[in-house]
Amino acid sequence: LFGNEEHKIVIVGLDNAGKTTILYQFLMNEVVHTSPTIGSNVEEVVWKNIHFMMWDLGGQQSLRAAWSTYYSNTEFVIVVIDSTDRERLTVTREELYRMLSHEDLSKAAVLIFANKQDLKGSMTAAEISKQLDLTSIKKQQWHIQSCCALTGEGLYQGLEWICSRLK
Ligand code: GDP
Repeated sequence: LFGNEEHKIVIVGLDNAGKTTILYQFLMNEVVHTSPTIGSNVEEVVWKNIHFMMWDLGGQQSLRAAWSTYYSNTEFVIVVIDSTDRERLTVTREELYRMLSHEDLSKAAVLIFANKQDLKGSMTAAEISKQLDLTSIKKQQWHIQSCCALTGEGLYQGLEWICSRLK
């Protein structure tokens, strides 16, 4: 998919956002090597030459200080959002800007998945974009993509955007 170079993608989002479902849609039918022992809050999956590091943002404040040690050489941050979870969008917002202010992520590109679009009452990508104030992100390239991780709809459009950012 990405050629022979190594790439590092960090996947973040609140618990229940759909991170695991998205990751496994991407890795479907592939044998993956996982290293679950890196830390209780981090999971690493290696597929071809892409390292996926995955974090839950929910309920893990005490461990967040350690996250930045995993940021170096990250090319892409994927933020997964449960589009029905209006209450916790502010938490995602805080964590997003905290991450993006880290110098190791100054050159990373950010893909936001507005997940669970199949559910009634889900916010649209435009709504989420406004709530997260995405236009205020100037340092990084960003893109928001609506999707449904259960069916896979929208996921490959997101990956295509990532591919288009690779030189
Ligand atoms: P994680 O905690 O971010 O890894 O979230 P999971 O991938 O474990 O998903 C949490 C729950 O949401 C599971 O029950 C999933 O089946 C469900 N889920 C994930 N994506 C979607 C989606 O697009 N639509 C619906 N309806 N449910 C989803």
